[in-house]
Amino acid sequence: MGTFDGKVGLVMGVANERSIAWAMSEALYAEGAELAFTHLPGRSSERRVRRLTERHGAKLVVPCDVQRDEDIGRVFDAVGEQYGRLDFLIHSVAFAPPHELRNPYVQMSREGWHLAMDISAYSLVASSRAAKPLMSRGGAIVTISYYGGEKVIPGYNVMGICKAALEHSVRYLAWDLGPEGIRVNCISAGPMRTLSSAGIAEFDHMQSHAARKAPLRRNVEFEELGAAGIYLLSSQSDGITGETLHVDGGFSIVGL
Ligand code: NAD
Repeated sequence: MGTFDGKVGLVMGVANERSIAWAMSEALYAEGAELAFTHLPGRSSERRVRRLTERHGAKLVVPCDVQRDEDIGRVFDAVGEQYGRLDFLIHSVAFAPPHELRNPYVQMSREGWHLAMDISAYSLVASSRAAKPLMSRGGAIVTISYYGGEKVIPGYNVMGICKAALEHSVRYLAWDLGPEGIRVNCISAGPMRTLSSAGIAEFDHMQSHAARKAPLRRNVEFEELGAAGIYLLSSQSDGITGETLHVDGGFSIVGL
């Protein structure tokens, strides 16, 4: 018996086997979940996500650019048609133009700021709204943040602003959706080597510094993020909503 037997989830944000969303998906598959996936529109993204998910028999793999309301609508319509409901949603999506991340934050363009905020923060609001009608029996939503949304992490720049908006959106969404029995939580992950983190100029330093400073004196593992996802999406955390859970080896508690 798995914790997620008979549960249906939608995973937004798998790019490849190093994606945090994929670490969470593997943990969920091991617990018996039925998962649907989105991928960035385009042949190569679709091929990568299908290759990963087909051995688990994923029935629904749908293109979605979260900047497009019609894409989001189509994804949730497809989930409704296929399953008639949704038990949980993983939102693991972020983007900022790489050249904007390389420049000091003070140079940030208006256009780049809106783009980063739209994809990395507003998309949680739009996706949660679209998920709500499918979660009439209650549900759980989890998104992924980073400590750079709380403190200045040199080089994280606009993404830190997006994460601050994301984490506070989690609280407001938890308030709005709580009466429907829908919980909304966030995992603040330690630095992981993924496609997205490759765009952050200071990433190597962020990782080595985290390993030195964190109480556990190491970086976290993908499996540990998967386990935290299982916790926040399962009935084990039924009393928890609007929370940001740091899965960072304790990095965020140290003030030095
Ligand atoms: P990743 O590149 O594997 O995942 C990012 C995902 O965002 C990709 O699947 C990409 O397709 C998707 N995406 C980007 N623009 C999109 C758009 N317009 N429409 C739909 N999808 C879009 O990298 P990751 O590190 O697994 O990132 C997942 C989440 O974790 C992000 O929110 C990231 O900020 C966050 N995070 C990452 C780290 C880290 O160190 N890697 C640490 C903390 C938080």
